[in-house]
Amino acid sequence: MASLRSRGHPSRRTTILFLGVAAAAVAALIWMGVRLLQQDRALEAQQLRERREAAADRLIIALEQVLSAEERRLTDLPRADVASPADDAVWITEGVSNSSEFHVWPDIGLLYYPVIPPGQEPPARRYVEAERWEFIHHNYRRAAEKLRPLTRTADPAVRAGAQLRLARNLRKAGDLESALEIYAELAESSDQGVLISGVPADLAARRARCALLEELGRRAELEEEARHLRDELMTGCWRLDRASYLYYRDQAARWLNQEPGSDAEQQALADAVIWLWENRQDIGDVEPGSEGRRSFRLHGTPVTVLWRQSKEQLAAVIAGPGYQRSRWFDPILGSADFGSIRVGVRDSDNALVYGNEPAAAGVPATSRLASVTGLPWDIVLVNADPEAVLGQFAQRRRLMMMGLAMLALLVIAASYLIGRSVSRELAAARLQSDFVSAVSHEFRTPLTSMRQFTEMLVEDESLPAEKRRAFHRAQERATRRLSRLVESLLDFGRMEAGARPYRLERLDAGRLVKATVEEFKQEINPANLVMECSVPDEGPAVKADREALAQALWNLLDNAVKYSGDSPVVHIEVEAGNPVAIRVRDQGLGILPAERNRILRKFVRGTSAKASGVKGTGIGLAMVKHIVDAHAGKVLVESESGEGSSFTILLPPGE
Ligand code: ADP
Repeated sequence: MASLRSRGHPSRRTTILFLGVAAAAVAALIWMGVRLLQQDRALEAQQLRERREAAADRLIIALEQVLSAEERRLTDLPRADVASPADDAVWITEGVSNSSEFHVWPDIGLLYYPVIPPGQEPPARRYVEAERWEFIHHNYRRAAEKLRPLTRTADPAVRAGAQLRLARNLRKAGDLESALEIYAELAESSDQGVLISGVPADLAARRARCALLEELGRRAELEEEARHLRDELMTGCWRLDRASYLYYRDQAARWLNQEPGSDAEQQALADAVIWLWENRQDIGDVEPGSEGRRSFRLHGTPVTVLWRQSKEQLAAVIAGPGYQRSRWFDPILGSADFGSIRVGVRDSDNALVYGNEPAAAGVPATSRLASVTGLPWDIVLVNADPEAVLGQFAQRRRLMMMGLAMLALLVIAASYLIGRSVSRELAAARLQSDFVSAVSHEFRTPLTSMRQFTEMLVEDESLPAEKRRAFHRAQERATRRLSRLVESLLDFGRMEAGARPYRLERLDAGRLVKATVEEFKQEINPANLVMECSVPDEGPAVKADREALAQALWNLLDNAVKYSGDSPVVHIEVEAGNPVAIRVRDQGLGILPAERNRILRKFVRGTSAKASGVKGTGIGLAMVKHIVDAHAGKVLVESESGEGSSFTILLPPGE
């Protein structure tokens, strides 16, 4: 028992060792996987950041080039080719000290201006007489008569002044139709630059005509006229100051019963011009020859101003969103260079000038501030297609994880297989050592009885002849048992080595079984053994090696007797058919269900057999299986624990 227990330990220790090694290997793999994942993530973030940084550098250089080119053009102002009316941009030059030197390109288009150039005002003395009739005598018809000749003079300023006064007098006189006509005539006249009390004459005529139409309740005509007024205001064809523009715009809207139209973008340009004008002293003070850039938001519209300051003049370009987009941003950011990057350009009010809203929080972005780059905008870059890069990384990670998982599986499988084979080896070693001790015991019994009988025969020569014979028979049985034991061991060795030759011949199974049972009875012959043979006289034919089959049957009979307890009853049956069945049945110990298949293996002994103290080597059934396999047959084991067992050899019939 002690030796058995001590043998149990190495096997458990080995299993624990293997489990430990496998667990350590798997843990190392998992740790490696986690580290690799972390590194891969860091690499991925770094790659994305590098892309953004490189794009930011390229973008800043490209924008700097564009703005520098734009600023160089400021030195050439005025230049005809600089301005296209289609652009929402204006170029201006201002005298730093002399405010009258203010030029704008394109020269129409701004809704309003910071300074209004002096226009042509008609001399008031020409109308003195008419105005006396009008304001002192309230004789409007006489006043009209005095004015009519003046409406035909060559001087456009005098003419316009006369027309306005004539229409006013006609209106007061009740001749509203004629007044309307004159206003219409003046409104459509092509005379430019005539100012009446600081307001362009045609604008004043149009406004007066609208007021008159309103008074007359002629809605349709009023609306048409007001629409006209509004459209012309929007084209910027009049040089107005801000307040006048807003006043006329709101008037037109009132007549049209509408909100003032959307002129935010144009107002933004005009207000930017005013901003420059108002700040020209400050800008100029900085440093002659200096340049400036500023991007801000006016009326919700992003406007960028670039200016260049010389001693006597400030030149600037004021660019609206359309110009910035089409001339500056699109050509750069539309190129494939920035395909993988999303750019957001923001002005000093932190409002978006170009590009996309910032990415959701948590998305890595690279920003370049205006204060650092010298550009008028802050720039934020995010990766447009992080999925493309991430996808590539994710795929790599998947592969890596799969590799590691496979490696882990391999480690587990290898450890399992090694563990299993080691524990099998250990089990086999244990079986083998059990076998050695079993064989020693098997030998000991006949050897002991031989020694005792021999001693008795030698020491006592006066033994009666009867006794001597009995002793000699006992000696013979012991010798036979020994030699059978040795033979079966040698046979088993040959079978294991595959060196046992089988000579198959046609046999009568019944006869062979009967003969073997007879021989067995002769040799074993315990007093209470009952052997019941139901074997036909003319048995079925099988093709078999006589000696081997007899040996197999002998082993089954031997077991049936060994394991059938105190009153052995053994049934032997032979059944003809295909296959031929040779069955040995007993009513003994039986075999546990779990052991029914295992007991056919070499050195394996059943639990009940060992517990009941019956000696054995565990090779008997292994030999039976060997022999039957060599005959292309089968061994069937049927048993109920405690109620006996039945072993059947199935053999193919002989022809
Ligand atoms: P052994 O030398 O132990 O008899 P065997 O190979 O002949 O070796 O048998 C293997 C085991 O099968 C036995 O130890 C026993 O447990 C079981 N066995 C074989 N024949 C019988 C039987 N007739 N009844 C019960 N158990 C049996």
